[in-house]
Amino acid sequence: MLNIVLFGPPGAGKGTHSIKLVEKYELVHFSTGEILRGEIAAKTELGIQAKAVMDKGELVPDKLVVEMMRKKISQYRNSKGMVFDGFPRTTAQAEALDKLLLDNEIGIDAMIMLDVEREELIKRLKKRAETSGRTDDADMSIIENRIDVYNKQTLPIVEYYQKQNKYKKVDGIGSIEDIFGRIEEVIKNL
Ligand code: ADP
Repeated sequence: MLNIVLFGPPGAGKGTHSIKLVEKYELVHFSTGEILRGEIAAKTELGIQAKAVMDKGELVPDKLVVEMMRKKISQYRNSKGMVFDGFPRTTAQAEALDKLLLDNEIGIDAMIMLDVEREELIKRLKKRAETSGRTDDADMSIIENRIDVYNKQTLPIVEYYQKQNKYKKVDGIGSIEDIFGRIEEVIKNL
C-alpha cells in the first residue's frame, strides 16, 4: 500500500498532482475541500456548517473533518493506497489521521510538501478564480486569509511528520511534468 499526504499552501498544486498520483499508482484520492464542497452542494447539515467558515477562508472544525474522513478510510482500507489532499490541516488532524489509519492497521508512508512562495500562490489563485467558480478564490482578502491560516495553523504539521521521518519537500515551481517527476523520485526512494 502507498499512503501519501500531499501537503502545501492553497494554490501549491495539490489537486493537480493528486490526480497524477491516482493515475500512476492507482490510489484513492481524498480531497477534504472537494468532499466539503459536495456536502455544501447537497445542502447537508455538515455542508451548512462548513460553508460559513469556508467562505471566510477559515478552517472547518477538526471534529467534523475527522468524522467525515473516518468513514472514507475504513471503506478503502483494502485499496492500493490513498492520497490525502488538503488533510490533515492541523496537528490535531494529523494525530487523528494516524489513529484512523492505525485502527485499520495501515499508516502514512510520506508527507510530500509542495514548496511555492506567497507571490506565486496569489498569482495562481487569482488565475484559478477565473474558472473555478469558488467563492473563496474570488476575493483577494479571502485568498490572503487562507494563506495566513495555512502559515499559522497548518504549517506546524511539518514538525509532526519530521519527527516521524516522513517529511519530504519538493520544489513546487516549474512545469507540471517536472514537478511530478520530483514527486515520483521521492516515492521511488521510500
Ligand atoms: P485550497 O487548498 O485551495 O485552500 P481546498 O479545497 O483544499 O482548497 O480547501 C478549501 C477550504 O475547505 C479551506 O479553506 C477550508 O475552509 C476547508 N477545508 C478543506 N480541508 C479542510 C480540513 N482538512 N480541515 C479544515 N478545513 C478544511
